[in-house]
Amino acid sequence: MAAIIDGKEIAMQIKDELKQTAAKKKAEGVEVSLAVIQVGNDPASSVYVRNKKKGCEYVGIRSLSYELPEETTQEELLSLIRELNGRKDVNGILVQLPLPSHIHEDTVIQTIDPKKDVDGFHPQSVGALCIGEKGFVSCTPAGIIQLLKRSGIEIEGKECVVLGRSNIVGKPMALLLLRENATVTIAHSRTKNLKEVTGRADILIVAVGKPKMITKEYVKEGAVVIDVGINRDESNKLCGDVDFEDVAPVCSAITPVPGGVGPMTIAMLLNNCMESVSLQS
Ligand code: NDP
Repeated sequence: MAAIIDGKEIAMQIKDELKQTAAKKKAEGVEVSLAVIQVGNDPASSVYVRNKKKGCEYVGIRSLSYELPEETTQEELLSLIRELNGRKDVNGILVQLPLPSHIHEDTVIQTIDPKKDVDGFHPQSVGALCIGEKGFVSCTPAGIIQLLKRSGIEIEGKECVVLGRSNIVGKPMALLLLRENATVTIAHSRTKNLKEVTGRADILIVAVGKPKMITKEYVKEGAVVIDVGINRDESNKLCGDVDFEDVAPVCSAITPVPGGVGPMTIAMLLNNCMESVSLQS
């Protein structure tokens, strides 16, 4: 049976380390702060925003909350972001996605000052990651690297397959694994012989958004399986992209859903907030 990688516990370790750093900074007269903007009241977004604010509170990061109505115009949102870009007392700016359809997400992301882009979505942050320069890294893939390292799983020289090529998970994940000297394959919906490709992986990272799609036929015996998916199954229960019950017996380590990758995303957001201070000084 596989070892279960406990994301909750590892996220807590990171948050406790950040709590100490925040306290040290406070003693030096520096208070770290994050502006969180939500437009409309999508229930899932409200849960994410609440958890991010709770994380800030735990670590000792000040969070400034902007809850804007659904009918907020793009110009109103951009003007708030420009104001926050200019404020010395704001270190990080997070705009909760998705935004209402009348607002162009890319324009919003590109308006955030790259030095305050704690989500790591700005093209400048993505470019920096691509060429190996300093910058913010998208929180979910950064969290997965921490999960692997802190679980003692070696990445260098391993065959890693990333299933999914989104801008926020799949692509940055592949770049981070490459930075760790893995041999990386990215697979997606047009990949041929998918089981054969995923079956080569020593480390398989799945981010497809399809409940329980990955069964043991996709997984090499002894592989490490990281499940990014957050879905609801037919009985409305939270589940991942991996069929945990089916896959756990054949792999060496696996992340559960919930309690695997999810908590790491917030921990890395808080980490990015802390790092933003040095990027701005
Ligand atoms: P996207 O929908 O943006 O991307 C999904 C990717 O999966 C695409 O590249 C798509 O390929 C590929 N794909 C879809 N169906 C198949 C298939 N049948 N076979 C092979 N590849 C397929 O999703 P995200 O990356 O944003 O999110 C993925 C999952 O991770 C979701 O469940 C999401 O909720 C979750 N998530 C969890 C986070 C966390 O904190 N734990 C954070 C972010 C996301 P193609 O490009 O060809 O269409």
